[in-house]
Amino acid sequence: MPELVFDQVLEQAGFRPTRQRRAVYEHLEAMHGHPTAEDVFHAVRIELPRISLATVYKALESLVESGVAQKMSGADGTAHFESRVDEHFHARCRACNRIVDVEALPEFHRCVDKIRTAGFTIERARLELTGICELCARQHHN
Ligand SMILES: [Zn+2]
Ligand SMILES: [Zn+2]
Repeated sequence: MPELVFDQVLEQAGFRPTRQRRAVYEHLEAMHGHPTAEDVFHAVRIELPRISLATVYKALESLVESGVAQKMSGADGTAHFESRVDEHFHARCRACNRIVDVEALPEFHRCVDKIRTAGFTIERARLELTGICELCARQHHN
């Protein structure tokens, strides 16, 4: 997301687009998967050595509130973040806690539309699948 757009989105949500928030967003965007606040903290610290974990956590929360990031909770209650905000689902491995993205199928959207026409206002559709990931399953068999 270009810096100007980022600044505007945050300001519209009532947040000051500080250098720290911007850095947290940039690192989150560059990271693969669904890092925890601590993962983001370790990455941002290289650029901003004096930043604290609490600041990173608060920055992540403001990004989520601004709609430029998503937050989800893992099995152990730890919050995971991602800069992807389009509708997609998550499959979580109960062995290694890894979260994998799952694309929403058109059938799912049709199902949501049907519920919508039944008079229910859906603000957000979320689906979380739990199981064993490919890597863990392979390890188990070896
Ligand atoms: Zn796994
Ligand atoms: Zn995701």
